Formats: sequence, structure tokens, C-alpha cells
Amino acid sequence: MSATHEEFLGRLIAARLLIPSGVEGVYGRGDRFEAVCEGMDRYVTQAGAGDGAERIRFPPVVTRANFERSEYLKSFPDLAGVVYGFTGKDREHQELLRKLERHEDWTGGLVPTDVVMTPAACYPIYPTLSGVLPPGGRRFDVLSYCFRHEPSSDPARMQLFRMHEYVRVGSPDVVRSFRNVWQERGTEMLRSLGLEARVDVAHDPFFGRAGRMLAANQRDQSLKFELLVPICSAEKPTACVSFNYHQDHFGQLFGIHLPGGGPAHTACVGFGLERIALALFARHGTSIDNWPVAVRRMLDV
Ligand code: ATP
Ligand code: ZN
Repeated sequence: MSATHEEFLGRLIAARLLIPSGVEGVYGRGDRFEAVCEGMDRYVTQAGAGDGAERIRFPPVVTRANFERSEYLKSFPDLAGVVYGFTGKDREHQELLRKLERHEDWTGGLVPTDVVMTPAACYPIYPTLSGVLPPGGRRFDVLSYCFRHEPSSDPARMQLFRMHEYVRVGSPDVVRSFRNVWQERGTEMLRSLGLEARVDVAHDPFFGRAGRMLAANQRDQSLKFELLVPICSAEKPTACVSFNYHQDHFGQLFGIHLPGGGPAHTACVGFGLERIALALFARHGTSIDNWPVAVRRMLDV
């Protein structure tokens, strides 16, 4: 199973699993591709069903005010996507149309709206938790399309993709045990689908010189783990599930307090639905009819 990204993408497009849009990393999902994502979504839901997480769905944006408070721009300015809008009158509208007609840049007159594209499914939840947590903390189940400005010919690096996450908020102890439970569960889930998953310590793609220190710190303290699965290459497997322990980062920023005092700790486990679907198509072939029956049954595809 060694293919270049372009070869694999070509096969996915030929099989109508992904439909190109003309922009790298933005695809339509064919019926069969979508069915696998939905099956995986159900599998993630079932796996966490006994934990009592509160299920919440946000639209794929965060407010600009909360985005600014989250400090995302300190670490990942290059990945952010801000939504702009037109607020002009007739005169500005005429000007915009003139520029369009001349193929000039028409976007200069736009202004930022109050929303920014969600970079990770868990981001909208933290600002809602300001105040004192109940004893034992809280659990959430969130899912969202997420945006990251990282155009690529690698089908596994999309600009818009879905992340189904469980989030734990509470004392350092409960948050750490949550992460351990999901590390084991996630590995078993992927292996049950015939995928070769292994856990590795990882770091986020922090921006710039200061970012290199943040990345080293994250790695040294083992704050991020990934479940790596071969998609195009066995030597360079792809992160399909990620565990992030934020320590008290969001607790501090959004004033989330433990009942006994002190900022709450948070962690999340994120299942990348498209990446897992891609790993399955790479492993079992682009025709679901030829997949192992047990895998088809598990995902109901
Ligand atoms: P990478 O290191 O590959 O950029 P990540 O570890 O930064 O990914 P997270 O930010 O932890 O990813 O996101 C959680 C999950 O979302 C990942 O495990 C992956 O399955 C999925 N994901 C992240 N980035 C992308 C992308 N560009 N396209 C598709 N899925 C993605
Ligand atoms: Zn998260």
C-alpha cells in the first residue's frame, strides 16, 4: 500500500468517493464515502455511550471574541479562517461589481464579521463553561466541520473536515484517566476495523520561532498523543485520532473553576471522520462491496 498522494486522490475521484471542487483540500463527498463517515460517527457515539457525555452540536463557527480569547492566533495564525462580509451601500456595491468585471481584487472592501471558522470541534464549548464546575466535572460529545487553511494535494489533509470529539473538563486526575481510557478504546476501535493503529506522542504545528518551544514543551510533557494509521504510506502513517491534554489553558482563559478552587483542566479526544474513512478505503479498497463482512457490519455500510 504505497502510493503518492496524487495517485490515491486520483483513485478516490475516479471511484466518485471524493468530488473535486477546484480548490485543494475542499471536496464533495460521494454517497459511499459519506456512508463510511456516518458509520464511523455512529461507532464513536456507541463507544462513548456509557459515559454520560452531554451531546451538543454547534454550527462550524466560533465567535470572533471567543476566538481572540482562545489564543489560537498566538499558535496557529496561518491555519485560521475568518469570515468577512459586505456592509457597503449602492456606491460600494457598484464598485465591487466593477472590480469583479475587470477581474480585479473585489475583496478589499469587505469587513470581518463576528464569526471565525471553527478550527477544532471542541472550541465553542469552553467559553460556555465560565463559572464553577459541578463535583466530578463535565463531559461533552461534540461534532463539527472544522476549517484549517492548509491547502494540500494530500487527500488526508483537507481544509474542511469533520471531527467527532469527546471533551472532559474537571480535575487533573479525571482528565488524565479520561485520556487513558480513550487511548485504549480508540486503538481497539481502529484495530476492530482492520486498521493498523499505533499510539505515538505528537505535537501541534505551532507557528514560528516561539512555536518551536511550544511544540518541544508539548512533546516533553506528553500532552498530545495520536493514533497513527497508514493511508498512503506505512513509513509515514497519518494521525486519525488525536488526544489533547490542554492542562489549565482553557480553564484559565475562560474562568472555568473547580468546586474546590483553582482552574479546571481540560482534554479532548478527536476522531477525524474523513481520515478514518480514507484509511479504510486505502486498507480495504475503493469498492465497499469487497470489504471484509465484519467491517461492513460494524459500520452498517
Ligand atoms: P496533523 O498533525 O496531521 O495536522 P493534528 O494532530 O493537528 O493533525 P488535531 O488538531 O489534533 O490534528 O485534530 C484531530 C483530528 O482531526 C486528527 O486526529 C485528524 O483525524 C483530524 N484532522 C486534523 N487535521 C486534518 C485535516 N487537515 N484534514 C482531515 N482531517 C484532519
Ligand atoms: Zn478538541
